[in-house]
Amino acid sequence: MRLVNSEALYRKACELMPGGVNSPVRAFRAVGGTPIFYREAAGSSFTDVDGNTYLDFVMSWGPLILGHAQARVVAAVQEAASRGLSYGAPCEAEVALAEKVTRLYPGCEMVRFVSSGTEAVMAAVRLARGFTGRERILKFEGCYHGHGDALLVKAGSGLATFGTPSSAGVPAALAALTVVVPLDDEQALERAFASYGRELACAIVEPVPANAGLLLQRREFLAKLATLCKEHGVLLIFDEVISGFRVGPGGAAALYGITPDLATFGKVIGGGMPVGAYGGRREIMEQVAPLGPVYQAGTLSGNPVAMAAGLATLEVLEETGGWQLLEERGAAFAEAVAPALAGRGSLVRLGSIFWFYLDPREPPRRYDALAPQAAERYRAFHRALLERGVYLAPSAYEVGFLSTAHSEQELERAAAAIAAALEEVL
Ligand code: PMP
Repeated sequence: MRLVNSEALYRKACELMPGGVNSPVRAFRAVGGTPIFYREAAGSSFTDVDGNTYLDFVMSWGPLILGHAQARVVAAVQEAASRGLSYGAPCEAEVALAEKVTRLYPGCEMVRFVSSGTEAVMAAVRLARGFTGRERILKFEGCYHGHGDALLVKAGSGLATFGTPSSAGVPAALAALTVVVPLDDEQALERAFASYGRELACAIVEPVPANAGLLLQRREFLAKLATLCKEHGVLLIFDEVISGFRVGPGGAAALYGITPDLATFGKVIGGGMPVGAYGGRREIMEQVAPLGPVYQAGTLSGNPVAMAAGLATLEVLEETGGWQLLEERGAAFAEAVAPALAGRGSLVRLGSIFWFYLDPREPPRRYDALAPQAAERYRAFHRALLERGVYLAPSAYEVGFLSTAHSEQELERAAAAIAAALEEVL
């Protein structure tokens, strides 16, 4: 595999941008080697600046549920762009997307569009604090909610603990307001609520935790969280930036039959354009400015081009039974890779989200149960797959995504490449 042009661009980029990238995981630090610079992409594949072609399982980290440059999405974007890129004033497309989101997502009576998942979460947490008049928040170890200060904290060891910042520059005083508990542990949750329940504004969780591998939760655990929130007057926030409009039209909320007070969205809701959103119960959303005292604003929020991409994406998914198709493709893919994984690891999967866990033991449901060797093995696996034209996320802790553009034949070919790669490195 020739990467001459990627290498040259990367050297130049490193002079100009920290780590040569605009988002850290793209720098390939976790797997080594040179980040591959995309030149163009269509459907399930992309071509790099050296002319190599890959089957893409990153799909821009989740937004591209219909594949790269899907015809209807591109046409909608072009049509909208021809009428102006941004107005900074209300437009019809935002009403249409708001209508769709509130119709599809359980308990979402009102929504506010922003420009990224991070922004959606920051605003939802502020709203929860404003609504309840409380300052502490609860999050789970291993869940990522974007890079807002209050959420960039991780657990100490053991029991419920106050967060310590996991980034320089996050004030300790702010991190101390964040209580961190492990996933999959009802007892730890009960202890945390017994200690802090009456001081918590919200508990935020990725109902499908997909930022430290794919740590699928038991429904009972999520139900317990919902019950404890209700008992203590704590708002439950589902961070559905990854799972929203991907695991089904109603996200994880519909899948598990648990309706959160607020939910945050990103990725699929923008179909590849920068869109995030938060929404939920009307009485809570009515606290947002200009109706209420919780301030939040955005110059490019709800711009017509981004709205058009999100709207076209959701329309195509609904009209073509996209979620059902993705479940079928996902199941077939899991079946195809199972024999090669036997004794070596697992493919953890929910619909079109998957994760290779390269350890023979049972896949974990909590962050501290991840086997460190699995990440080591992943480095070699990643490299072996790149050489076979299959592009997985450049980190053992990132999940992979299928799109409706990944054909059965392509997935069969990928499964064969995966089997060969596993044979070579494990
Ligand atoms: N929440 C979750 C669950 C995410 O996975 C991410 C990003 N991967 C975010 C929030 C932040 O979204 P963004 O990168 O759009 O700011």
